[in-house]
Amino acid sequence: MLPYSTPNHDFAFEQSVIGMAIVSLDGTMLKVNSALSDLLGYSQQELTAGAPQEESIRKLLHQVVQNARTAQDHQQSVTYFEYTYHHPSDREVYLSVHTRVEHDMEQCPQTYLVQFEDRTLLRHVMKQLELNEQKLHEEENSYLQLLEGLPLSVLITKKGIIHYVNPATLRLVNAAHPRDVLGISTDVIVDVSYHNELSKRRARYVESGEIGSVNYLIRCLDGQKKMVTGFTLVINYEGEKAAVNIFKDITEQRMEEDRVMQSEKLTTAGQLAAGIAHEIRNPLTSINGFVKLLRSAERSNELYFEIIESELKRIELIVNELLVLSKPQGVHVSGPIDVFAIMEQIITLMKVQAALKNIEIIPHYPMVPVFVQGEVNQLKQVFINLLKNAMEAMNQGGTITLDILHNAQEVQIIVQDEGVGMTQEQIQSLGQPFVTTKDTGTGLGMMITKNIIHNHGGTMNVESIPDHGTTFTIHLPAL
Ligand code: ADP
Ligand code: MG
Repeated sequence: MLPYSTPNHDFAFEQSVIGMAIVSLDGTMLKVNSALSDLLGYSQQELTAGAPQEESIRKLLHQVVQNARTAQDHQQSVTYFEYTYHHPSDREVYLSVHTRVEHDMEQCPQTYLVQFEDRTLLRHVMKQLELNEQKLHEEENSYLQLLEGLPLSVLITKKGIIHYVNPATLRLVNAAHPRDVLGISTDVIVDVSYHNELSKRRARYVESGEIGSVNYLIRCLDGQKKMVTGFTLVINYEGEKAAVNIFKDITEQRMEEDRVMQSEKLTTAGQLAAGIAHEIRNPLTSINGFVKLLRSAERSNELYFEIIESELKRIELIVNELLVLSKPQGVHVSGPIDVFAIMEQIITLMKVQAALKNIEIIPHYPMVPVFVQGEVNQLKQVFINLLKNAMEAMNQGGTITLDILHNAQEVQIIVQDEGVGMTQEQIQSLGQPFVTTKDTGTGLGMMITKNIIHNHGGTMNVESIPDHGTTFTIHLPAL
């Protein structure tokens, strides 16, 4: 009598979805279920008909017996092995084989109850996972290699603490080893003068998700200061939000820019000096002459004094205009400035003079503040120069229309007159020092105007029709 031959057991055996067999101690299949017949690709009869002819089955059974005997030697009644079975349809079936030694009443080993589980799919999935993991790892490694070789400095931070630096960063901050910077706060490296700005930037990022590149000063480990430009990406790093900061040393570039700017200033100053000498020599020559005449004159001549006075006024005018130019070039005392408010002040200032010339100044803009970043007095100077020129171009009277337009990027200030206008040539030479069409002009106003607008990061357009009028449009970056 075989074990498990009760009807209930038979049912469980036959209906099991796991392939099962009862195998004799010498490796003959005594009984198999249909799941096993499906799994191995032979009918139940083929499998149980004495010693199977099929090589693959014989090998499998041999393995079952070997494995069970080893288990018995170790006093174990249950054992397990994995086996790659060659299916008659010419595919590999990956089996997980469990064997239990069945004993008779006298506790003598009698048969083996063997379960064959198909693990092919599972194994396939596992293999795929393993491969993916390997690939991920390789990718991670290649990213790392990329970062390590990058000439740009990369620094990964979590909550402001440095978690990774690439060699370029180490070189930049004059550190010998990553451990010199890992674990410290970026505040140690960013110069104190920029802490405020950078923390504001972080807050802005949290609010709007917007992040652009920014220039700031860093303090190297040996105290040296460097200017860098950089931007930040937020990523998931080791399961947490982290900031990848990518930046570049622009100290040299900055110094070069400063040098160029300085030499440009010197060139302008040189050009100016020649013109100034010329402009001031004429009034001085005439003053000189009149003073000589005065000395020789019997009694002082009222006309001489008038001429001297007017020449002195001219020198004063030129010197005054030049003073604006000689003030520090950069926008130094800069802050948010309400263009609308400045415009109102200047209209008040110029209205009387305009009325005397029969000119009406008409503001077209709504009464709302519009802000730009800049220096009040310099921007006032710009508007005064433009309005003065407009008025001087309108000897027949008329209207000057003012407009302020703005969007998110820029503010436009438009000054439109009905004056004599300019020829194409005049427009070309606009802004060159001492170029003027007026008897009492200095030809410095437009140069100063252009200079100030440039220092404020803005530009200026001119459109003009001779005998009809001129429109100046100033573009300034919006705040
Ligand atoms: P100035 O006013 O002392 O002549 P500017 O530099 O202010 O010097 O202007 C240079 C020249 O540009 C003026 O002499 C004039 O010929 C021309 N110009 C400037 N603004 C206008 C304008 N609104 N209409 C016509 N010509 C203008
Ligand atoms: Mg002028």
